[in-house]
Amino acid sequence: MTTMSIPAGAHLIGGDWSTAAPGGTAVSDNPARPDEPVGEFPQGDASTAADAVTAAVDAQAAWARAGFGARARVLERAAVLFDERADELALLCTLEEGKTVPESRGEAVLSAETCRYQAGLAKVSSERIFPSNNPGETIRTVRAPLGVVGVITPWNFPLLIPVWKIAPALVTGNAVVWKPASNTPLSAVAIASIFTEAGLPPGVLNLVLGPGSMGGALVADDRVDGVTFTGSVGVGQGIRDTVTARNGRVQLELGGHNPCIVFGDADIDVAVAGVVNGAMGATGQKCTATRRIIAVGDVHDELVDRLVDAVTALKVGDGQDAATAIGPLVSAGARAEVADAVDQAKAEGAETLAVAGGTPDGPCFFAPTLFAGGTDLTITHEEVFGPVSTVLRVDDEDEAFALANDTDFGLTASVYTDDPWIVDRAVHELQAGLIKVNGPTTGSEIHAPFGGEKDSSGHAAREQGDTAQEFFTRTRTAYIKPGRPR
Ligand code: NDP
Repeated sequence: MTTMSIPAGAHLIGGDWSTAAPGGTAVSDNPARPDEPVGEFPQGDASTAADAVTAAVDAQAAWARAGFGARARVLERAAVLFDERADELALLCTLEEGKTVPESRGEAVLSAETCRYQAGLAKVSSERIFPSNNPGETIRTVRAPLGVVGVITPWNFPLLIPVWKIAPALVTGNAVVWKPASNTPLSAVAIASIFTEAGLPPGVLNLVLGPGSMGGALVADDRVDGVTFTGSVGVGQGIRDTVTARNGRVQLELGGHNPCIVFGDADIDVAVAGVVNGAMGATGQKCTATRRIIAVGDVHDELVDRLVDAVTALKVGDGQDAATAIGPLVSAGARAEVADAVDQAKAEGAETLAVAGGTPDGPCFFAPTLFAGGTDLTITHEEVFGPVSTVLRVDDEDEAFALANDTDFGLTASVYTDDPWIVDRAVHELQAGLIKVNGPTTGSEIHAPFGGEKDSSGHAAREQGDTAQEFFTRTRTAYIKPGRPR
C-alpha cells in the first residue's frame, strides 16, 4: 500500500486552483483496485476552457518578454522537483494508469531530463544569418513564440508525454492551456503543481480537467494558435480539421501498427526479449508497441517456440507489486475493446499461440496473448491498444519489407539481424519515423526527434529532441541594413 499524499483534483487557471465543476465531479479510478478510487476531480466545460485561454492570452506577452534565461531557469527548477518527487509521481502514475512502478518511475525521471534538456536547448541559438546582395545588409532569421498553445494528452504516458510537449512550449515563450486525459487527471495536477512551484508566472500554464468535449472547445477557440495532440486517430483527425481550417498549427501523434522483422541471423535471445518487451510492455498500451512480428524463413519455428514460453510466463498483476511484469489495462472500457478485438481475431481464424497464465480476476486485467495468422486478420491492420500481437511468417527479405510497410501507420519499426546490408535497407526503406535495429519498437531518448509518418503523425514538426521547439515557434526573416547611406 502507498502512503503518498494524493493531490486534490482542481483546475489551474490564471495561477489559481479552482474546483469549479459545471460538468459535475468525476472519479479517478485505480484499474488494479477498482474498490479503491484514487480521488475525485471537477469536470470543466467549454466555459472553463475559455477562461483558461483568456488567462493564457493575458500572460503570454510578458512571458515571451521575460527572456530565454528566465524561462530556462523555471524548467531547471522543475527538473529538480521531478527528480526529488520521482517516487511519489511514480506511485501516483501507477495508481491512475496501472503500469508497473518501475515503468512509471522511468516517466518521472525522463520528465526531469526533458526539462533540463529543453532548458539547455533554449540557450543554443536557433537564429541564422544569411548574406545579402545589398551592401551593408544582413539577413537574419529569428524565432518568435507561436502564442497560446493547446496541449491535449492521453493517459498512457501521463507524466512524460505532457512534459515533452509543455517544456518546449514554455521555454520558447508560449502560454499553455493543457487538457489531460480523464483517466489520469491527478497526475496532471501533480505536474502542474511542479511547474507552479518552480516559479512559473500565473496564467503561463493552465490546466483544465474535464471530458473530451471540453478539449473540443479548446481546440475550436480561435485564440489558440496551435494544438499539440497525442491520442486516437479519429479525435486527432477532427482536431487537425478544426485547427487548420482557421490557419492554426497542429501537431499529431496518433498511434501505430508497428512491425518487428526477425531475420534468420538474429541473436534469438536478443530478439525474443525485444519482441516481448515491445509487444507486451506497459500492457501493450504504447503507440510504439510491436503489433506485428514478422518471422523470415526458418527462424519462424524457433522464434515462435521461444515467444510462446516467454509470453506464457509473463506475470500479470497490480503495478505496485514488485513481481508484476504486466499491469492492468487502464479501464474496464479499454479491456472490453481489447477483448472484443481478440474475439474477432479468433472468429476470423487467428491461431492462438500463447496466453499468459495466472492472470488475476478484475475488470481491467487482461492476459497477454500471442496469435499466428495472416494479413486477412483485422488485428494485423488495426491498432489494438493492449498486450496482443501476431506472428506472421514470410519467406524472404523482400516479402518482409513489403509486409512491414503494408500499413496506414508509420510510427516505429524494428529489425533483428546482424547483416549490415539489411540494416542499411531497413534504415532507408522502412516507412516509419523511428527505426530500431536489434531493439524493440518501443522506447526513445528524449534528446532525439520523435514522431511518425503516414497516418501516425501527418507532416508536423517532430516532438522531442532539438526539433521539439520548431512546432512552438514562428520563423521570421529580417533584412537589416544601416539607417543612413555611408
Ligand atoms: P482519445 O483520442 O479519445 O483521447 C486522447 C485525449 O483527447 C484525451 O485527453 C481526451 O480526453 C481528449 N479528447 C477526446 N475527445 C476529444 C475531442 N473531441 N476534442 C479534443 N480532445 C478530445 O483516446 P482514448 O483515451 O479514448 O483512447 C482510445 C484509443 O486511442 C486507444 O485505444 C488507442 O488506440 C488510442 N490512443 C493512442 C495513444 C497514442 O499514444 N497515440 C494514446 C492513447 C490512446 P478524455 O480522456 O477526457 O476523453
